[in-house]
Amino acid sequence: MSIYTQINQKGYYGSFGGAYIPEMLYPNVEELRQKYLEIIYEKEFQDEFYQLLRDYVGRPTPLYFAQNLSQKYNTQIYLKREDLNHTGAHKINNTLGQILLAKKLNKQKIIAETGAGQHGVATATVCALMGMECIVYMGEVDIERQKPNVARMKMLGAKVIPAKSGSKTLKDATNEAMRHWINNPTDTHYIIGSVVGPHPYPDMVARFQSVISEEIKKQLLEKIGRENPDYVLACIGGGSNAAGAFYHFLEDKNVKLIGAEAAGLGISSGKSAATLVLGKIGILHGSKTILMQTKDGQVVEPHSISAGLDYPGIGPIHAHLFESKRGEFYAITDDEAMKAGLLLSRIEGIIPAIETAHALAVLEKMTFKKEDVVVINLSGRGDKDLDTYINYGF
Ligand SMILES: *Cc1c(COP(=O)(O)O)cnc(C)c1O
Repeated sequence: MSIYTQINQKGYYGSFGGAYIPEMLYPNVEELRQKYLEIIYEKEFQDEFYQLLRDYVGRPTPLYFAQNLSQKYNTQIYLKREDLNHTGAHKINNTLGQILLAKKLNKQKIIAETGAGQHGVATATVCALMGMECIVYMGEVDIERQKPNVARMKMLGAKVIPAKSGSKTLKDATNEAMRHWINNPTDTHYIIGSVVGPHPYPDMVARFQSVISEEIKKQLLEKIGRENPDYVLACIGGGSNAAGAFYHFLEDKNVKLIGAEAAGLGISSGKSAATLVLGKIGILHGSKTILMQTKDGQVVEPHSISAGLDYPGIGPIHAHLFESKRGEFYAITDDEAMKAGLLLSRIEGIIPAIETAHALAVLEKMTFKKEDVVVINLSGRGDKDLDTYINYGF
């Protein structure tokens, strides 16, 4: 068994991962660790999950041959259309999987943390679907910045609780959600939104998102007669859409895995989220990974024009792909991403999320052969980013 798809019992990808949690949280995390694999591979679970992915989420999402983009970069580019999922991004694959798991664990309540509100909305959506009580912790500053998503969550029946400590952003919301979970261990499940957090979260979230690469394989076989592309590109905040797009190609060294993280205003500007360039090994949200920190280990406040990439760490699977050189990673500035987002809108008629635009911007930095098959994971749609695009100008 491979160390990627079958991480060890303690949840390590190479030297990254694990579960660094306060003792108070141990029973909750341990219950999950012992039961998640057995539950999610039961036939009944799989049937329900796949049926909802099909009829509720709208899967399989198309794999679209982008003719105009291909012509521009003189190669064969396919877009995996996660933007066409219900709620507009890949996040629903994971929240749906986790709420079904929570039901099997007899939990009645769901908590989540959210930064930009995208994960909060995806969580509130599945809670509405399943009739579960939903509490979303969100930094007070983010609540002010992300009003439409706050309204969506409330409309879906979720309770949004402001985190008022520290910088009043994502990391403070995460701390409050953890605290809530410690105090309510028996009836509550905590839905984490990316391949981060203590084991088994990174592995569990990667498995739910792996439906993306499972479909890419089938769709490529149908379209070009082979399952494997030469390249898979994805943007990386925590790394869940990338993990899902890479998952079934991890073992196949001929498929090159390319990640795009956010360089914000520039690597050395002091305002970026380029974790792999600037970060050092440390512990963040319960796992050992690479994160941006000061000399004395304080987490550095990240910056990116896209709220979804504005995260000071990276999932342990990607820290390992980086360290082992199995993956190749690019840091993309705000400006490069905005240009790539506008280009896709103009030449393909698809307005991407600004997160996704970071992956598209990598096309400018690489050279491909004419016959190379390049799959880009189009993680989300750009409706939510319209104000940012308008302010940037076009
Ligand atoms: C949240 C989000 C991301 C970043 O999260 P990952 O876990 O790195 O995938 C990327 N794209 C979109 C559209 C998002 O909403």
